[in-house]
Amino acid sequence: MLQRYLRDLEQALAPVLAEAAEPVSRLSRERLIDKPHGDLPRWQAAVRALPAGPAPCALDRDTLVVGEGAGGVDQGALRAALEGLIPWRKGPFEFFGQHIDTEWHSDWKWRRVAPHLADLRGRRVLDVGCGSGYHGWRMAGAGAAFVLGIDPTLLFLMQFLAVKRYTPHTPFWFAPVRMEELPAGTAAFDTVFSMGVLYHRRSPLDHLLELRDALRPGGELVLETLVVEGDAHTVLMPGERYAAMRNVFFLPSTAHLAIWLSRCGFDNVRCVDESVTGTDEQRATDWMRFQSLPDFLDPNDPTRTREGYPAPRRAVMIANKAEK
Ligand code: SAH
Repeated sequence: MLQRYLRDLEQALAPVLAEAAEPVSRLSRERLIDKPHGDLPRWQAAVRALPAGPAPCALDRDTLVVGEGAGGVDQGALRAALEGLIPWRKGPFEFFGQHIDTEWHSDWKWRRVAPHLADLRGRRVLDVGCGSGYHGWRMAGAGAAFVLGIDPTLLFLMQFLAVKRYTPHTPFWFAPVRMEELPAGTAAFDTVFSMGVLYHRRSPLDHLLELRDALRPGGELVLETLVVEGDAHTVLMPGERYAAMRNVFFLPSTAHLAIWLSRCGFDNVRCVDESVTGTDEQRATDWMRFQSLPDFLDPNDPTRTREGYPAPRRAVMIANKAEK
């Protein structure tokens, strides 16, 4: 299954990435075949235990739907296979009538982003830190000609394959690489998304430069990240943990983030949405049984994290790569 996927991935990448395709394919092969993650055989067995594909899929609605209803599918076996891919963080999905209530309402983020995008029809799109692929499927569902999702987490690649099995010809591909590993300067994409990644990067300006280099001149960046309230001089770096996460670095205000973007070679910089993340958008469910946002906030003051920082607030920034 993985050998075949890799062959198809290599073929799909070549025309879009040109010489940058080879290193991405090589890293993908290394991680999936040569030195695989210890849980990979178990996740592969879970995907193989799903009903055979292809099947009709609806990629243009809040819940991504695979298969038409429950008809003829052994629901016990289906649920067991899907549970083999827990934790399910980004979604929601429905497989043959089985709803997966993921930790995140990723559909809410898509609703905040989608109305502001340059029409995705016919575009080549990169989704950096694509998670399960939920948003990548929505991008394909909105008519993108080619979507590449990259994310180093192999479980998320397996969750992607659980959908890809049913819609092999949808032009959405997932490569298990980090943004830093994508060869520099491809200028291959019309739209680049980085959602929920910037604050995990120790070096956020380098991340913005990498995103810019992946865009063609004039191409559109969609950046979604944690922010704080404040003026153009405000940026918060938490001490050690933020909302229980150790890997959170810079939380700028949107005005400060706009400065980062313009200094990194973007113009037409605008903030199209700013919202506080509620505990109805991110919470533990049957499909993600670890702690979640409600556990990470101050029990006496939900406007604060349990470390005493402002509670999570997220902004969507859109900008264009300067023409020169
Ligand atoms: N984009 C999705 C998921 C955000 S969670 C959304 O907005 O809902 C952040 C994801 O980024 C995780 O899946 C993590 O594995 C991935 N990630 C972290 N560092 C990354 C990097 N350097 N390059 C690419 N992906 C990265």
